[in-house]
Amino acid sequence: MRGAPTIAQALATARAALADAGIDQPALDARLLLADATGLSRAQLIGWGERPLAAVEAQRLHAALQRRLAREPLAYILGRKEFWSLDFAVDRHVLIPRPDSETLVEAVLASVADRHRPLRILDLGTGSGCLLLALLSELPAARGVGVDCSVQALQLARQNAERLGLAARTGFVSSDWGSALAGRFDLIVANPPYVTEADWQQLMPEINRYEPRAALVAGSDGLSAYRRILPHVRRLLSDTGAIFLEIGTEQAEAVIDIAASAGFECADIRDDLVGFARCLRLRFSRRPIGQQTAWKQSVSCLMSRKR
Ligand code: GLN
Repeated sequence: MRGAPTIAQALATARAALADAGIDQPALDARLLLADATGLSRAQLIGWGERPLAAVEAQRLHAALQRRLAREPLAYILGRKEFWSLDFAVDRHVLIPRPDSETLVEAVLASVADRHRPLRILDLGTGSGCLLLALLSELPAARGVGVDCSVQALQLARQNAERLGLAARTGFVSSDWGSALAGRFDLIVANPPYVTEADWQQLMPEINRYEPRAALVAGSDGLSAYRRILPHVRRLLSDTGAIFLEIGTEQAEAVIDIAASAGFECADIRDDLVGFARCLRLRFSRRPIGQQTAWKQSVSCLMSRKR
């Protein structure tokens, strides 16, 4: 092609390259990469199709396209991802926020009768901070602590808190789950790793080549993080508090069992948009220890209600 390509030509070329590489949504990705390279909106890209690309824009597009063709997720290339209608900075140190996790935010908000209460929130494995910050954006008097074992993740979460104007109500702590913390929280939330080693191998290259393994993989059965977290959050939960856990597909019963051994009962199970049980609400068990049978019945009752 002679001279600089126009916007329309660049878009068509990028889309074709992405489609040839078998990328899922080539047209969408091409448009977002071009919008990022040029700083133009979707409407401008359409309306200004004949405008030639500046050399620097063409270079930026080329570099971004090469990354996407190597299967790097769009969110890492753009450096941001929307979650709960908020804009989060993301990089390879944190899991990219998923729409699935909005189920957990919904579950927490549905459980809070008065959104103006000064609730204390703990987010274990905060990553980009998406769960904690989405909650604080809806709970104006709440304060929260985000914990992560990755210092780079904490830096990003802090940056997100600042960008969203929530830094004054947040603290970020480097800790192995809750071990470095003291005090009691009204709400404890976590989206821990829950993918099995075997499933990890089968995931899309976008995930298993780029996203932090430690944020996704939890042993051979995908349950090791729940086993670690649940026993020691007892001392961090207020008497009337609740724990909200994101869970993997088909993990509800196993995680409810682990929770029961740690003295918690499941008060609610919430499905994601696809219909999989995605979030558990746990509270201190009100049943005397030893009544496992009665307890199991109530679990299967909860499960069948959801099916
Ligand atoms: N939902 C994510 C996935 O399947 C897993 C998130 C997690 O392990 N917490 O890619």
